[in-house]
Amino acid sequence: MSAVIELTDVVKTYAGDVRVLHGVDLRVEHGELTAIVGPSGSGKSTLLNIIGTLDRASSGTVRVAGHDVGTLTDRELSALRATHIGFVFQQFHLAPGLSALDNVADGLLYGGLPLGERRERAHGALRAVGLAHRTGHRPAQMSGGERQRVAVARAVVGEPDLILADEPTGNLDTRSGRAVMDILRQLHADGSTIAVITHDNDIAAALPRQVHVRDGRVADSPARPTAPRGGTT
Ligand code: ADP
Ligand code: MG
Repeated sequence: MSAVIELTDVVKTYAGDVRVLHGVDLRVEHGELTAIVGPSGSGKSTLLNIIGTLDRASSGTVRVAGHDVGTLTDRELSALRATHIGFVFQQFHLAPGLSALDNVADGLLYGGLPLGERRERAHGALRAVGLAHRTGHRPAQMSGGERQRVAVARAVVGEPDLILADEPTGNLDTRSGRAVMDILRQLHADGSTIAVITHDNDIAAALPRQVHVRDGRVADSPARPTAPRGGTT
């Protein structure tokens, strides 16, 4: 089976010949929970945008969920994103005029399911993030931590192959941030493949694998086996 993410010698250069990624190789398998960690300006968001097919590499090969994205049209890339990738951003990016339920149901727009079915699945996703009691609330009526949990529900409702989270706890207090990370860990335990972009070494260290980004280069740490169960040490 092919990996969920396969980058080979990926270079990204912005206008004016500013090279931001210098030949990145990265492979993420199904079911991994990976931190992509590095200081501000190191190239993490650029890497996320390329993995998420929101931006194209200047050279090198990018395969996501088995598709060589360099060969796809912009339209095909939107379809790939809609069906294979769930995004979580630092700023939540929820629609202010919609209830939590409809924000999550919007995560299923691409599939052409009837509204009733979308809302039913959205309800299940909100339950999974502990927000079954907030389905009718709009974003302004929720705390930051609750908003981010809605965003996570929206990212997972379509059962994507990959969840990409860019600084998902960056706007949250410690406690809410921990709750969001706990939910991501639970999704991982249930089989989701997740990459968490962060500048926070503590958050990264708590995940099974760390990919370090520095000055547009990647240094990988080998994946640690899942922590032993209690009592087996
Ligand atoms: P991080 O997410 O790790 O903070 P970024 O990927 O956002 O880092 O940025 C990496 C580098 O690329 C920075 O030096 C930034 O200024 C530069 N950069 C990002 N986007 C652009 C752009 N559109 N044009 C030119 N330079 C950019
Ligand atoms: Mg960034």
